Amino acid sequence: MTRPIQARIHMDALAHNYSVAKQLAPRSQALAVIKADGYGHGYARVVRALPHADGFAMLNLENAIALRESGEIRPLMMLEGFFDREELLACAEHDIWTSVHSEHQLALLESTPLPRPLSVWLKLNTGMNRLGFRPEAALAMAQRLRALPQVRLSALMTHFATADDERGIAGQMARFQPVAAELGLPVSVANSAAILRHDSARAEFIRPGIMLYGCSPFAGETGEQLGLRPTMTLEADIIGVQTLQAGDEVGYGARFTAPGPMRIGVVACGYADGYPRIVPSGTPVRVDGQASGTVGRVSMDMLAVDLTHLPAAGIGSKVVLWGEGVAIETVADAAGTIGYELMCAVAPRVPLVEVGI
Ligand SMILES: *Cc1c(COP(=O)(O)O)cnc(C)c1O
Repeated sequence: MTRPIQARIHMDALAHNYSVAKQLAPRSQALAVIKADGYGHGYARVVRALPHADGFAMLNLENAIALRESGEIRPLMMLEGFFDREELLACAEHDIWTSVHSEHQLALLESTPLPRPLSVWLKLNTGMNRLGFRPEAALAMAQRLRALPQVRLSALMTHFATADDERGIAGQMARFQPVAAELGLPVSVANSAAILRHDSARAEFIRPGIMLYGCSPFAGETGEQLGLRPTMTLEADIIGVQTLQAGDEVGYGARFTAPGPMRIGVVACGYADGYPRIVPSGTPVRVDGQASGTVGRVSMDMLAVDLTHLPAAGIGSKVVLWGEGVAIETVADAAGTIGYELMCAVAPRVPLVEVGI
């Protein structure tokens, strides 16, 4: 017997969400973003769910090499590029595309004879101030890259800080576009928010991440409202039931007091599984398909849900914590965070089960 918790990965929903990105940007190559182990879904599983994807963008070179060694021939793009000489050589050897965003990387390229040609995307910092060269340095950096015999400068990229809110992408695009025009390179700028909301960002390459996983990048809007389908359902069983009287308290800190007679179910999911401890009582769940809410504080391995209105529910009832019927955005919002963080934080002890292939 195993502890009754699982995260179901909806393979068909991954494919559906990818096709939504492709429909919005039919002329773009869409590199599915699979960093953070495919946003917690398992990067190799996401690759398998997307046999028609144009390519993949990621951070972990070991993952990229493993994909190559398993026979993957589509483009694999390293969003942060290589971190040392060994990684640089491995990118060339395995035909893995890399971004170059720093003087450190450029110096390594200039001082390392490469066994094979290497595709490089020059990354500009147009305002986010995370990775990239400033636009005014771009032409000089491109010149240095173009001077290297084994380097093929094949795209210009940047990343948006506010594509998901009313500030949009205009300011960053105004800094990016003159450089793109001058260099005449293919362009890649769009994350999910830009793909969904800004047609000017749907350039040669797009980089859909969160939208593939059915989650909205926009505050106050769910993936479902955007035509996306949830790709992860976190579900656990009820393993205990308590009958309460008015005034009885529930859980650590006695943070919940029953206002009247109640029945609660104790669910085999806690913060050590990745369910956020901080959520208040009443955070939505579904018990055997019926709407309910959490009760009291989330423990390490358990949490309580209200069964008062669900007399048929009991030991063995299935509780969806997020996914089918419970928008992950709602749970994330209750925890003061975003769906991205919840998906990425599902603990290794939670088995991932593929469905809907
Ligand atoms: C994570 C990431 C993306 C995807 O962003 P989403 O908001 O998940 O769509 C695209 N580009 C870069 C550089 C990233 O780091």
